[in-house]
Amino acid sequence: MAESAWLTFHCGTDKQTRLATFHHNGTEWQLAEVSAEPLPEGGAMPGRIAMTGQFGLAPGYTGCPGCAAVNFVRCGSCAELGCWVGASADFTCGNCGIQGPVVGTIKSLNAMDVA
Ligand SMILES: [Zn+2]
Ligand SMILES: [Zn+2]
Repeated sequence: MAESAWLTFHCGTDKQTRLATFHHNGTEWQLAEVSAEPLPEGGAMPGRIAMTGQFGLAPGYTGCPGCAAVNFVRCGSCAELGCWVGASADFTCGNCGIQGPVVGTIKSLNAMDVA
């Protein structure tokens, strides 16, 4: 049974907040899609569930709708998710604005409750 979870996702380029959809493939949580339309400001936030394990990208992921970056990281400062172009590029957090190199791998995320 495939599990799904949703998180807020911040674009470091256009600074919009969107909704990211993750699917668990049995081995890892894979980012499958980020909504094209930004989330409305001040929208109600559902409860959150813990997502643990490995994180990756689903085969069909087409990149951040705001800037086409094909990877993602969790901000070490605010713990929100943001787009990242990958390789050696610095990460700019679209939520808190911090900028810096990417280190380590994501071990856990707090997803919005599926219910
Ligand atoms: Zn982006
Ligand atoms: Zn941040």
